[in-house]
Amino acid sequence: MSAVDDPSIVIVGASLAGLRGAEALRDSGYTGPLTIVGDEPYRPYDRPPLSKHVLAGDLRAEATELPQLTAVRAQWRLGQAAVALDRAGRTIRLADDTVLPYRSLLVTTGARARPFPGAGAGLPGVHTIRGRDDAAALRSALAEKPRRVLIVGGGLIGCEAASCCRDLGLSVTLVDPNPTPLARVLGMLVGNSVAVRMKDAGVSFRPHTHVKAFESRNGKVARARLEDGGEIEADLVIVALGAERDARWLAKAGLLADGGGLTCDAACRAMTGEGAPDPHIYAAGDIARWPNPLFGDRLRTVEHWGNAVEQARHAARNMLAGRDDQKAYAHLPAFWSSQFDVNIKAIGSTEGADKIAIVHGSRTSGRFLAVYGRAGRTVAAVSFDEARWLPAYESQIACGAPFPPILDATDQAPIDHFSPGFPAPRLASESADTTERESIHA
Ligand SMILES: Cc1cc2nc3c(=O)[nH]c(=O)nc-3n(C[C@H](O)[C@H](O)[C@H](O)COP(=O)(O)OP(=O)(O)OC[C@H]3O[C@@H](n4cnc5c(N)ncnc54)[C@H](O)[C@@H]3O)c2cc1C
Repeated sequence: MSAVDDPSIVIVGASLAGLRGAEALRDSGYTGPLTIVGDEPYRPYDRPPLSKHVLAGDLRAEATELPQLTAVRAQWRLGQAAVALDRAGRTIRLADDTVLPYRSLLVTTGARARPFPGAGAGLPGVHTIRGRDDAAALRSALAEKPRRVLIVGGGLIGCEAASCCRDLGLSVTLVDPNPTPLARVLGMLVGNSVAVRMKDAGVSFRPHTHVKAFESRNGKVARARLEDGGEIEADLVIVALGAERDARWLAKAGLLADGGGLTCDAACRAMTGEGAPDPHIYAAGDIARWPNPLFGDRLRTVEHWGNAVEQARHAARNMLAGRDDQKAYAHLPAFWSSQFDVNIKAIGSTEGADKIAIVHGSRTSGRFLAVYGRAGRTVAAVSFDEARWLPAYESQIACGAPFPPILDATDQAPIDHFSPGFPAPRLASESADTTERESIHA
């Protein structure tokens, strides 16, 4: 029987990757039964607006539902987590004890907000932003006009939240262990440009700051206790410490899975503890950790919207292809962020970059395009309101063109380049982290 006539495909994770994977199965000719399992009670919705338009009050959290681009004709099992996997019997068990058989399984369970590791994480007034309910709860808390908002973590989501809170006229302090915001994602040279924008917008940015615990007054968060003994008063806290995965049910079934992701081969097939791919189980999106052919053999997860879409489509096509026709998934990471009236767009991977050059615009003007190099090769480009130049660098990054980049003709003046200023590897003791939407696992 060919996979297109397969009796049943189950997708676990009813969000962006799950939906786009389901559409790709139908678009590729799969007509058999399809079940989509999701632990949230909602049809797939879009997360990027949650830390932007929803917090700002421009969009209601329930208006983020994703459109179906193709009729997926699926049976939806929403509000039910998959809790166990039996690979030998090819079944999954849901939280209500329903057992679903599968011929092929696509795991798109994404990630969840990394909780604050110290005391007080569960106090009323302490928020994270991952899901629709988180964003709705935070939005209503912000509408009550808290006097002092504290944001822990100067990654993409922390910065976006800070920007929205300032737009709402709230007093905002943002703390991070690094010298600048976005230091781990973009380096300190570019992070400084964000710090300047933050300051101009009225955010109090506290670098080199480690939060140890949250303390309460009258049963509600009242302050953050710092590792150096200091304190920051706050009546609303947003914890933005990046993401982690709950992959215990996958690990228990003998797959290579942990809080950093589910390991896959280049074709997106889940790897077993025996070191071979399970031909019936695929993964895509934030959960998948795979050897991206564009970056050698290093295993990486990419926590960006564009990857969830492309990888899910790729995995779906491989699910329907024969064993000898499995295609490797090569992906150039890309993301966007809007904050402090600037549109940030990035392509490639800044991991390990040792040089940066500003190739268009200037950091003083706030509009620029920066190109990153590693060992003499162009590896990433980041634009601050200069996105029209970005596509020109995509192919240079994909083929590892020389750095500094060749911009024009032969008489090009030398391009100045600098250290991007990535902070030293994270210490285990750091209690405030950045939100990185890309992680690398050696
Ligand atoms: C606030 C926020 C803002 C973002 N902004 C941007 C942006 O500006 N640009 C960008 O490129 N990317 C952005 N991202 C990242 C992007 O949204 C993610 O990369 C994308 O959502 C990943 O999709 P996914 O389907 O793999 O995982 P998810 O969206 O995490 O979906 C996984 C789903 O599976 C469910 N699930 C988990 N475990 C189980 C289980 N055992 N059983 C059943 N269901 C389960 C989860 O509850 C969830 O519904 C943002 C993310 C967040 C949280």
